[in-house]
Amino acid sequence: MSENYYDILGVPKNASAEEIKRAYRKKAHEHHPDKGNGNAEKFKKVNEAYQVLGNEEKRRQYDQYGQTFEQAQRNGQGFGGFNYQGGNPFGGFSGTSPFGEGAGFDFDLGDIFGDIFGTRQERAGRRNRGIDLEMGMVLNFEEAVFGAEKTVTLEKQDTCKACEGSGAQPGSKIITCPKCHGTGQIVTTRRTIFGNIQSRIVCDRCQGTGKVPEVPCQVCGGSGIVRQDKTIQVKIPAGIDDGQRVRIPGEGEAGYRGSSPGDLYLVIRTRPHKSFTRDGFNLLRELPIGFTQAALGAKIITSTLDGDIELKIPAGTQSGTVLKVKNRGVPYVKDPHRRGDLLVTVRVVIPKKLTKKEKELLKQLADERGESVEVDQGFWDNIKENF
Ligand SMILES: [Zn+2]
Ligand SMILES: [Zn+2]
Repeated sequence: MSENYYDILGVPKNASAEEIKRAYRKKAHEHHPDKGNGNAEKFKKVNEAYQVLGNEEKRRQYDQYGQTFEQAQRNGQGFGGFNYQGGNPFGGFSGTSPFGEGAGFDFDLGDIFGDIFGTRQERAGRRNRGIDLEMGMVLNFEEAVFGAEKTVTLEKQDTCKACEGSGAQPGSKIITCPKCHGTGQIVTTRRTIFGNIQSRIVCDRCQGTGKVPEVPCQVCGGSGIVRQDKTIQVKIPAGIDDGQRVRIPGEGEAGYRGSSPGDLYLVIRTRPHKSFTRDGFNLLRELPIGFTQAALGAKIITSTLDGDIELKIPAGTQSGTVLKVKNRGVPYVKDPHRRGDLLVTVRVVIPKKLTKKEKELLKQLADERGESVEVDQGFWDNIKENF
């Protein structure tokens, strides 16, 4: 067995970053090849250990995949060398290599790690996680404003009930994947001008999980997922607007063999309202009023989305005037206690048909105001009849 990195630095597995740094400095100083009693081989190992343990992300990966890492190293594949001149942990050692040229492949260990343990592992993780789903949902205007509980049925890859997502036939065990020996990865080596470059692909037998069911579930074939209808209750938050998406966590497709499910996104469409429209969190409506009401002022009972209110029309209100009713708009999605306003646009309606009496009164009003009016012949006929 090659030495564990923790052993090389002489620190326990749970050592803090500070302890690791201190141990590294001490050991590096101790074995530095420039010193008379230095040891290039040990120095190299110490540096190698620190490049991994001194980096939070790499350390985590090493803790998780330590064995794979060591194995690769023993086989002299890819990890044989490291560029101690460029990397941060070696900031103190600029200059020529203390152990000569050709001690290893001259490329940055960090890059290799990034590729193998970072990117690829992440990709494997994404592959196992269930797929996000998206579906449209049509809401009434009021449902979007005040929120709603809706029942949704969707056909999707869902957790297999027979094996509860494990992929194992009930009663059988989950065992270490025999193809990748639990590492979740298949190692291939490629020869290049830089030396052997190792790459890893996700194990196709276990999909990178490192574990396989001893006897695959008969219902789902071992995947832990089956296609079926699922009905769920979803809560639509108040204030949602047309075109927005509501995320329902965990209600996408189930993940491979019990890994985390995707999310469900509901794309909201709202039906129009006969009286109200929206502008963000403000509600808009028009209110037709009579011209006498506009001129004299009035109190008018009018509807809002949550009940009737008495709206005061000030005397002399012009057509197109916007009256604001505070806090009768749409609740804020992120803060439902806050609401927008209701903005009422007043439309003064001029009557198209008038009774005889109305015409007389208006004529008198016109005379009173000194406004010239032109009335049809029938009007005068009617007037004459009255004299
Ligand atoms: Zn199953
Ligand atoms: Zn495997």
